[in-house]
Amino acid sequence: MFEETPLNTRSTLDLQQADTRHFLHPFTDHAGLARKGARIIERAENIYLWDSEGQKILDAMSGLWCVNTGYGQQALVDAATRQMKELPFYNAFFQTATVPAIELAELLAEVTPPQFQHVFFTCSGSEGNDTIVRMVRRYWDVMGEPARKVIISRKNGYHGSTMAGASLGGMSGMHEQGGLPIPDIVHIEQPHWFELGREHSREAFGLIAAGWLEAKILEVGPERVAAFIGEPVQGAGGVIVPPSTYWPEIQRICDKYGILLVSDEVICGFGRTGNWFGCETFGTRPDLMTFAKGVTSGYVPLGGVMVGERVARALIEKGGEFTHGFTYSGHPVSCAVAIANIGLLRELDLVRRVREDVGPYLAQRFLEIEDHPLVGEVQTCGMMGAVQLVKDKTSGAGFASELEVGMVCRGHCFGNGLIMRAVGDRMIIAPPLVMTREQIDEMMQLIKRCLDLTLNDLRQRGWFK
Ligand SMILES: *Cc1c(COP(=O)(O)O)cnc(C)c1O
Repeated sequence: MFEETPLNTRSTLDLQQADTRHFLHPFTDHAGLARKGARIIERAENIYLWDSEGQKILDAMSGLWCVNTGYGQQALVDAATRQMKELPFYNAFFQTATVPAIELAELLAEVTPPQFQHVFFTCSGSEGNDTIVRMVRRYWDVMGEPARKVIISRKNGYHGSTMAGASLGGMSGMHEQGGLPIPDIVHIEQPHWFELGREHSREAFGLIAAGWLEAKILEVGPERVAAFIGEPVQGAGGVIVPPSTYWPEIQRICDKYGILLVSDEVICGFGRTGNWFGCETFGTRPDLMTFAKGVTSGYVPLGGVMVGERVARALIEKGGEFTHGFTYSGHPVSCAVAIANIGLLRELDLVRRVREDVGPYLAQRFLEIEDHPLVGEVQTCGMMGAVQLVKDKTSGAGFASELEVGMVCRGHCFGNGLIMRAVGDRMIIAPPLVMTREQIDEMMQLIKRCLDLTLNDLRQRGWFK
């Protein structure tokens, strides 16, 4: 779809120098980046990117877990263009609304599970989770139980980077900066079988890990617990697919104590796991769901919270004004693009394709690399996958973290035209849902090559026998 003449006319070096002088990147060590210079992405089509040096790259991360329908979708460009011409902006504060915001709300009620009939719009997943914190506490106030303030979350979960998002998240490196977590957010261990539970069967471990929620509820005092939040599959934490027993047991515990269940669907939503939402794949009935990323396939920013009827009824019927909102809540251009994107997911039948065709195919191809000497475990769920790199395949023992073996592997991926992310020594992918079987084959060939290159590299460094 892109023009023959690229927009950019500047040299890579010139851009890198300007980048170093002026641009503070997210989650980046700038001294380190300045030594290498940023890689500059110039254009994209389908599942491929091109950098400013003309190298073609297979984007196995969908940008940042978001370009579900792939790059270059003309329908999304047209939706944005038409809406920008007709009404580029109006707010939803003063008892007003715009057509795309209303129609997207209507459409979201249709594609989400039946308990969801209402939506609160934000511009990002982080703002969605901030909204969740305020909304669940407001809910319990309205219900006459103001002591219920504590939200239980999980270590190594990711819920965004605002004060509340980073507090809900369980990334210790984030808590160390900025005095987090904020009060009344507590964490339990994650359901990470390979790291925490290998002496048990996966199913038994799933129940043990869910049991940590009940233990925490009893420790805090059930009358003080407002909600539990988790990602169906932890994304940024390393594509950690929980045992099948985990989520149903979490649901049972939430029901037992009457606490709200929040599903952070920012990655798992909009087809990623082979259903419209991850909660459908894992069998929960959340009261609230955060979404962002895949709702617009990342073409423009949009996020929000699906509010289940239990909470919506209380807020609407008894709550009066909820003193919360953003200038861009229900931004008409974002909403118009989301409508077109959901239309495309339907038209291309992508959710079913992930569930019945490309998802199972990816799983089958991933199993083939489990034999590789460096690989301790592979996991997939829909169009997400993880490859755990280990020093000793039989014991499952990992490398010393200061060796940064994951980063060594990621270097080989970048060098070979593949974007695969490293979370510690866990290599992860989440490719666009439009990826074909042939493209999965192409990706697997690159992954295998990069694993072999990493193995040779580690042997030469004397880090692997
Ligand atoms: C990315 C992400 C967020 C944060 O979304 P932003 O749009 O970056 O603020 C929240 N939750 C999960 C599960 C995410 O992956």
